[in-house]
Amino acid sequence: MPLNWLIRLFPWVLLALSGCSDIPIPETDSNNAYLLAVKLVAFGKRYSGTEENRKQADFIVAKASEYGASVSVDRFPRSTAGGLIEFANITAEIKGKSSDFIIIGSHYDIKKIASVPDFEGANDSASSSALLLEMIRAINASGYVPPVTLRFVFFDGEECQMAYSENDGLWGSRHYAEKLKKTGLIEKCKAVIVLDMIGDADLGVTLPVNSDSKLVANVLNSAGKLGYGQYFSMKNFEILDDHQPFLQQGIPAVDIIDFEYGPGNAYWHTGADKIDKISEKSLKIVGDCVLRLVLSSIYW
Ligand SMILES: [Zn+2]
Repeated sequence: MPLNWLIRLFPWVLLALSGCSDIPIPETDSNNAYLLAVKLVAFGKRYSGTEENRKQADFIVAKASEYGASVSVDRFPRSTAGGLIEFANITAEIKGKSSDFIIIGSHYDIKKIASVPDFEGANDSASSSALLLEMIRAINASGYVPPVTLRFVFFDGEECQMAYSENDGLWGSRHYAEKLKKTGLIEKCKAVIVLDMIGDADLGVTLPVNSDSKLVANVLNSAGKLGYGQYFSMKNFEILDDHQPFLQQGIPAVDIIDFEYGPGNAYWHTGADKIDKISEKSLKIVGDCVLRLVLSSIYW
């Protein structure tokens, strides 16, 4: 072999021998996640169809792009119990070693509550949306190549206008799941992991029974490996959330939600859902658990 070839090959040989391609699984920067939640809350009454919701969507698109994801927006008008609303799902993709993909989802709309005009929705939905953005940043900053392609999806219209039904609530996730079916991508979608209300300082993730059992086991395994097992448990009740439309299409899905927000869930959909209830530590526990879950090739 000529000497100049050897010299050119040298760095690659070193890399192969040293195992330098094994970048450690990145961790979330909980301070950044928290500051992003503060920014999302600052957009104000960002329920579906409002100018505040659109401005927040623009911010999510800009941040996810800045953090290195390929971002697309799917706008779809629907006639709802609250009138005609143009919803928008945002997808931020990070390419993996395989074109098979996992969806990591969070809704970014908040509940419109007539009796609480200044409802913040700090936990429901700023916490999980901020954490998705931080996970995108952490992965791209680390250079870690995921085993499968990751689609971070920010769903609009999770909250119902009047009461949950086939024609009220879960607008974004229902639309996304139907589109996967129409475009023949069901087989490529290996899992859907929905995050919701995960910023509560008193964290206790309550994985609902209507979740895929293998995904639940993998979430618990990932949390246990990080020493966070005590914050996650399986519950014997069902929760209607953005994972449901994907389960109905036969895609394994899990809802990572803490549905014990305040005593007796008293902070949920009330004026108490403010940024002071959110902790950086909770964002880190859930963020690191999900990063480990989606980035470890043992699970995919
Ligand atoms: Zn809600």
